Amino acid sequence: MTPITTFAGRAVALFGLGASGLATALALKAGGAQVVAWDDNADGVAKAAGQGIETADLRGADWSGFSALILSPGVPLTHPAPHWTVALAKAAGIEVVGDIELFCRERRALAPGAPFVAITGTNGKSTTTALIAHILRTAGRDVQMGGNIGTAILSLEPPATNRIHVVELSSFQIDLTPSLDPSVGVLLNITPDHLDRHGTFAQYAAIKERLIQGSDQAVVGIDDGPSRAIADGFAEGGADRSTRIHVPRDAALTADAVTVRDGIVSDRDGAPLADVSAIRSLRGAHNWQNAAVAVAVARALGLAADAIQAGLASFPGLPHRMEEVRVRGPVLFVNDSKATNADSTEKALTAFRDIHWILGGKAKDGGIFPLVPYFERIAHAYLIGAASDAFAATLEGAVPYTRCETLDVAVKAAAEGAAASGAPEPVVLLSPACASYDQFRSFEQRGDVFRELVRALP
Ligand code: ADP
Repeated sequence: MTPITTFAGRAVALFGLGASGLATALALKAGGAQVVAWDDNADGVAKAAGQGIETADLRGADWSGFSALILSPGVPLTHPAPHWTVALAKAAGIEVVGDIELFCRERRALAPGAPFVAITGTNGKSTTTALIAHILRTAGRDVQMGGNIGTAILSLEPPATNRIHVVELSSFQIDLTPSLDPSVGVLLNITPDHLDRHGTFAQYAAIKERLIQGSDQAVVGIDDGPSRAIADGFAEGGADRSTRIHVPRDAALTADAVTVRDGIVSDRDGAPLADVSAIRSLRGAHNWQNAAVAVAVARALGLAADAIQAGLASFPGLPHRMEEVRVRGPVLFVNDSKATNADSTEKALTAFRDIHWILGGKAKDGGIFPLVPYFERIAHAYLIGAASDAFAATLEGAVPYTRCETLDVAVKAAAEGAAASGAPEPVVLLSPACASYDQFRSFEQRGDVFRELVRALP
């Protein structure tokens, strides 16, 4: 735990008692603050009370005594609670911040030079965060990984000179962190997402830009326009403190950047830095971007080339993201349950051929129309869930398909179909291009069920 001492002796209001909210309440209390916490979810309140946190409905509280409102980034702004809590905080004239802000202040007070890597972007955050942490750990460094991935930041060990915090940040978290100042800030990419909360695309990009502007050093993917503009803005700020990451689609394109071609990562002079072309957990051009970013960060933290290559080579990958579950005869089974939209599924479809594709669930806008160019890679489709009718209409006449309704039926049919296909290396791929909520609790549960079904095949 990282006790928060910067509010010692003061009272703070806290709303949101999920995992990170509870960790924040405990960290504030351990540092000597008086915390009054609340959530509209009675389970969260009961859990906090059970751990000795004072709970009270903040609507009826006396706000004049509070120094700050700590808001959990897990509470969507579309939920009524943030509006009334923020309105009450505004009326009382106090600041509204999140757990990452508390961490940043504690780091400045405790160990200002402690290495702190903060990673954001629309896609690839978790993979890149896990990869950076893995490379650093493999090289023997003391690494604390968390934030938007796994452990809440204030449940991690406190910042220290010889300890590296590697933290994934969502835009929501950055939004609640006015003094964000990582030693290395990473922006992978920016594409439209989460506009429900951030209003406009410009606002969304501005939040990401703040991370980079606050960083001592920056690593920025420049394959999309908005990220490139942010990288240009940072470079104009003076000293050479940024590394640009470029995965060229066009051989003619050059840039003052670390580039990746055919899986070979090269520095701006073209000298090779790392080779991920044969690393199975980093398949696909999207993962080349993640790998090149991790290489740049590891270099910024002083790792040698051979240590970086060793870390890349032993990266196991993350569950549910093109995760290889089993090889059965000639058939490879891949769990890509995290692919909840066509964009993500596109990455998986470009990585394989002779695909026996399990898809469906609760469809997103646009369905699978964007995937039509990859239909030639698909041997057969197996439909599950609520989107079956819509997807069957798109596949009709282009890809043979079977309506399976449920995942167990689909796994069995796909396994048989792939084994009987005669292709040398067929792939059974769960990459649903859909949310899971019609049949599962979450994409994780959907992927877990797939893995179990595949392992249970004779
Ligand atoms: P996040 O944490 O940002 O949601 P993940 O690492 O969990 O990202 O990857 C989620 C999905 O996003 C992957 O399954 C893949 O389809 C896609 N993806 C991963 N990395 C990238 C990238 N660098 N650019 C674009 N898409 C990516």
